[in-house]
Amino acid sequence: MFKVCSYVSFMTLKVVTEESMKRAKFLILRIILISFMALASVQGQIILKKNKWAPGQSLNVLFMNGSLEEKFLFKRAIEIWAKYVNLKFEFHSTLEQGGKLNSKFKTNTIRVKFNKDEGNFSPLGNRFNINSTDSISYLNIKESPDQKIKFISKSAHEIGHALGLMHEHQHPDLIFYKDEDEMIQICRYQFLLDVEKPENLKICKINLTGITHEEAREYGMGLSDFDQQSIMLYSDISNTTKGFFDTSVSLADKTFIAREYPHEEELEIEVVGRMHISDTQEEREWILKEYKQNDCALISEGDHLYLTKQTRDRSVKVRMTAMSAIDNYFTACVRNSK
Ligand SMILES: [Zn+2]
Repeated sequence: MFKVCSYVSFMTLKVVTEESMKRAKFLILRIILISFMALASVQGQIILKKNKWAPGQSLNVLFMNGSLEEKFLFKRAIEIWAKYVNLKFEFHSTLEQGGKLNSKFKTNTIRVKFNKDEGNFSPLGNRFNINSTDSISYLNIKESPDQKIKFISKSAHEIGHALGLMHEHQHPDLIFYKDEDEMIQICRYQFLLDVEKPENLKICKINLTGITHEEAREYGMGLSDFDQQSIMLYSDISNTTKGFFDTSVSLADKTFIAREYPHEEELEIEVVGRMHISDTQEEREWILKEYKQNDCALISEGDHLYLTKQTRDRSVKVRMTAMSAIDNYFTACVRNSK
């Protein structure tokens, strides 16, 4: 039987190939019937206690490569979490010691790479700590910095893993993919994984198999209620919807992580709620500022965001129904304006 401990130890190597697995999502959606992805719908967050960092400690964030833009966007994703946790983040961009990893970055360090040829993945929490003989594990982001919302969202998800969070679609209350055959078919057709290879089958099971309440107790996981908006949830395969803010760290994510890494004076729920509202406003303003190029711009009217394209003889206005749609629409708009 699949055991949660293998999930964790494997995650140390390469947690998640989620993005590499999503390449042909739209193509596959034409092939897979919705009913094929059947699962029980339910109305949290999951953390593996032993992989938590110590509250109050300092963590290095070491960029092992990357452009200024990639580092800037990743740092922005760190800052989303940082104000809610009692951890101090120090950013570094040099490996030192003749290109080799300085030994001080073998512990208490989130090592980060930007490599589009790999997936998005991260070790889990303090599994970043390695012995001198271990291979250098790292968090990888494969996204293009041209698509800022997506880049930050994927980074925020992987940073969630780096803080010790597991996948929300594996939450016991979701009862997600109890049927192993169905799960394997999803990996084969939606994520295009060659599941005949044992290593790929393992990745599939690690990332999708639901955790039971018994396993959560046995392996010392902290749980809150299932959160349909969690940044740690693959909503596109779990028959759940995140609504408009589908690329954001949720209020429940923030509330949970604040409790797991408490400040000396713990953040009260109401305070976290107010901070979250402020985050949402700031995010919206930032997007409006950043998404302007050629004839294309994002504008805000009432509660909604619209992509507009204004040329001499034509005006187009399209309402954005989800944050995740913005990058694709904007990229297409700018490309057609050249
Ligand atoms: Zn993940």
